[in-house]
Amino acid sequence: MPKTTTSISAPQNYHSQGLTEVIQVLNGDPERGLSFTEVQKRQSKFGKNELTGKPPKPAWLRFILQFNQALLYILLVAGLIKAFLAQWTNAGVIWGVTVINAIIGFVQESKAEGAIAALAQAVTTEATVIRDGEKSRIPSQDLVPGDIVLLTSGDKVPADLRLFNVRNLQVDESALTGESVPVEKSTADLSPDTPLAERVNMAYAGSFVTFGQAKGIVVTTANATEMGRISQSLEKTTNLSTPLTRKFDKFSHQLLYIILGLAAMTFAVGLGQGQTWTAMFEASVALAVSAIPEGLPAVVTVTMAIGVNRMARRHAIIRKLPAVETLGGATVICSDKTGTLTENQMTVQGIYAGEQHFQVSGTGYNPNGDILCEQKPVDLQTVNLLALRECLMAGLLCSDSYLQQNNHGNWSVVGDPTEGALITVANKAGWSQSEMTRLNPRVDGIPFESEFQYMATLHEQPGEESRVIYVKGSVEAIVSRCQSTLNGQGEESPIQPELIYQQVEALAQQGMRVLAFGKKNVSPEQSSLDHEHIATGLIFLGLQGMIDPPRPEVIAAVRACKKAGIQVKMITGDHVTTARAIAQQIGLEKDGQVQAFEGKQIAQMDNSELVPAIEQAVVFARVAPEQKLRLVEALQSQGEVVAMTGDGVNDAPALRQADIGIAMGCAGTDVAREAADMLLTDDNFASIEAAVEEGRTVYQNLQKAIAFILPVNGGESMTILISALLARDLPILSLQVLWLNMVNSVAMTVPLAFEPKSDRVMKRPPRNPQEQLLSGTLFQRIAAVSIFNWILIFGMFEWVRQTMGDIDIARTMAIQSLVAGRVVYLLSISQLVNVAARKIKGQAVSINDGRAMGLGILTTVVLQIIFSQWGIMNTLFKTAPLNLQQWLICLLPAIPMIPLAWFVNRIDPAD
Ligand code: ADP
Ligand code: MG
Repeated sequence: MPKTTTSISAPQNYHSQGLTEVIQVLNGDPERGLSFTEVQKRQSKFGKNELTGKPPKPAWLRFILQFNQALLYILLVAGLIKAFLAQWTNAGVIWGVTVINAIIGFVQESKAEGAIAALAQAVTTEATVIRDGEKSRIPSQDLVPGDIVLLTSGDKVPADLRLFNVRNLQVDESALTGESVPVEKSTADLSPDTPLAERVNMAYAGSFVTFGQAKGIVVTTANATEMGRISQSLEKTTNLSTPLTRKFDKFSHQLLYIILGLAAMTFAVGLGQGQTWTAMFEASVALAVSAIPEGLPAVVTVTMAIGVNRMARRHAIIRKLPAVETLGGATVICSDKTGTLTENQMTVQGIYAGEQHFQVSGTGYNPNGDILCEQKPVDLQTVNLLALRECLMAGLLCSDSYLQQNNHGNWSVVGDPTEGALITVANKAGWSQSEMTRLNPRVDGIPFESEFQYMATLHEQPGEESRVIYVKGSVEAIVSRCQSTLNGQGEESPIQPELIYQQVEALAQQGMRVLAFGKKNVSPEQSSLDHEHIATGLIFLGLQGMIDPPRPEVIAAVRACKKAGIQVKMITGDHVTTARAIAQQIGLEKDGQVQAFEGKQIAQMDNSELVPAIEQAVVFARVAPEQKLRLVEALQSQGEVVAMTGDGVNDAPALRQADIGIAMGCAGTDVAREAADMLLTDDNFASIEAAVEEGRTVYQNLQKAIAFILPVNGGESMTILISALLARDLPILSLQVLWLNMVNSVAMTVPLAFEPKSDRVMKRPPRNPQEQLLSGTLFQRIAAVSIFNWILIFGMFEWVRQTMGDIDIARTMAIQSLVAGRVVYLLSISQLVNVAARKIKGQAVSINDGRAMGLGILTTVVLQIIFSQWGIMNTLFKTAPLNLQQWLICLLPAIPMIPLAWFVNRIDPAD
């Protein structure tokens, strides 16, 4: 009697039950899988197969945490003391400003976190299931208990599975058990008390298949999985910290100690000079407040988040936030060839079989086209074309992919494009894949893995006793296993490898990817296939050469990289001649040549030979995935910042080691994706170049924000320190400093995060990886503008004080002229002027490019007018309304800022 699904949810010891029992409990069917109606029923019962984890921190808590900054402690205490002194307005304003600051920080942080979390969710994993007797790929979230799942190397295990049909399966369970060595799986019976790490007949959600294949039945999903149990105790957080933000934190801590020291000193010196302690308290608070760049952390977060967004729009999804800043500093990009530099649109164009050459007409995966010999279509039934027939048959049968036609009549491949091309050419010979697989059913197979460079399948043959193994793969892998070949008469004769390699060379020189084919007749008893069965004694059938054109946009992207001082290197599993031909087509040459190395040459080099070789070469062919790690390390030993692409299971170590590991969103394995810092949604090299461009812009905008904010802090603190020590009236009060640093700064600096990229961003060499964020020239710039700001505040204040006498007006005018100078300075480092110039010249500019900056400046002007003209602000901030003449005077100091800005832009270019 079939059980109802309700019994499934009870906790079970699935590993210690017999397989039949498990299947019965789950009411599953190992052959046909669940029916669609059953799946729907179970989906509504069990929900999505997703880990929910502990809910994130509540909003109120995140808001309170905004106050968890050293500066805000100072302000809260300062407010308290003011309250103690019964200066209620003062206290209120200080507290008010801190609250506003916290609100702004909170909103910005939530937005940034939201954006990054949304991106993370866009990256979903898929699972291969059998439902209603059909194999299909579905999003992992749609799995239900009882589903039959197929695992293959590179997959992330999507749910907890009880395994059956295990084939050399190895699983990395480190996420669960901490054990980094992959575990070999089997279908052994286990006792109930077997610990998790030893339950070899189970595969647990969140672990990775590093080798082999298996079939399993889903026993639990979502939070009921072992992973789910762990993750419920973990919090789901989006971490916004990066090396850069941590550097900032450290910087502001150090700054804080210096400030507190200076403030204490001012306090003591002032008291010693006989000033009142309330005056000195005011000066110390003002000094502390003035010196700390309150606006900076917010700008850093926003700039990063905007960078992440811009990259996503250009097909690069950031998985680990630090990659945003590292990308901008990349000096070498190591890219896969197939699919990243090329289209991965394979078309067989040349065949060599039975000592004859054939050409193939037609394009893409469309079956229209012919196989030609000396310009004439061939008749495949001719006896002496046996080798050609067998070569095509091997390509058709030894394959895991299939072709499909959409409503518009366009053909596409589901699976590997290399296989798609082989199926297409067999279609052109008039064979249908479904017909041929029906006539020659597959008994067993070894799937393609880069490591072995071949794939093999075992088939029954119609009307014949024996079974046959078809093998396809790289020329080296196949030819070394062959002992004979089919000649022009269709007879077996001894193989002559040199002759074959000559043919390969001729095809590869045209940039064609060449695959070789072989077969072996075996006894009808053989029902399983292993590597040893095809180690020797194959019959060579022929070669097929396919073109895979370079992506057109890659040529421009490579050129852009070169201009930007970034080296591009091709790392591929393909043949060296093919790789070199493609490298030439996309303009990879360095110093006019395309130097290439093969994996086996690299294997023989020690590191002292490898390092100079790798600096000069641009193509690395027939590279085994493990060698990628060595290449990355060799480059890094030369101080290079390396971006490396990868898609296979064995690429993961290299992706982790690289400064920026890049995985393919379409073609890659889950393992590679998990290891990567960045994903390409279109698998396209041009998107890497785009991401570097955006990364550079992020870094530049951060530098701009620093160049903009710090001189104001510098000017203010110099003013307060000097005036306090000279025992003069402060030109600017602590509350007014708060206004400048928190209100005015936010309006002016947040737009810097939105700055469009400069035309020159990819025309400069990469920044020196050793360079400090606060570089020498940046420091000079900050010092120069700080001094200017000091002269401006101090000079304006003293001059107005002496000529007009009113201290409130003097302070107000000092502040307004500081802001006027600030606007000019902001314009000098922003792209707004450039954008406007381009607009005037009639060039295409996006309205967005100037919008944030324009809005920021407008807001600043409005706020400053309110600040001095509105009565309430006068009471709160001790400002005074100005008349027109006074306003105009305030604008005057902005004029000398123009030559100064020009001068500092020369010592430290802003873009
Ligand atoms: P790449 O993608 O950089 O060309 P791969 O490691 O995928 O490198 O492939 C290496 C070689 O293995 C290819 O040059 C080809 O000869 C062979 N090969 C590629 N795909 C298949 C496949 N599906 N079946 C058999 N052999 C393949
Ligand atoms: Mg490949």
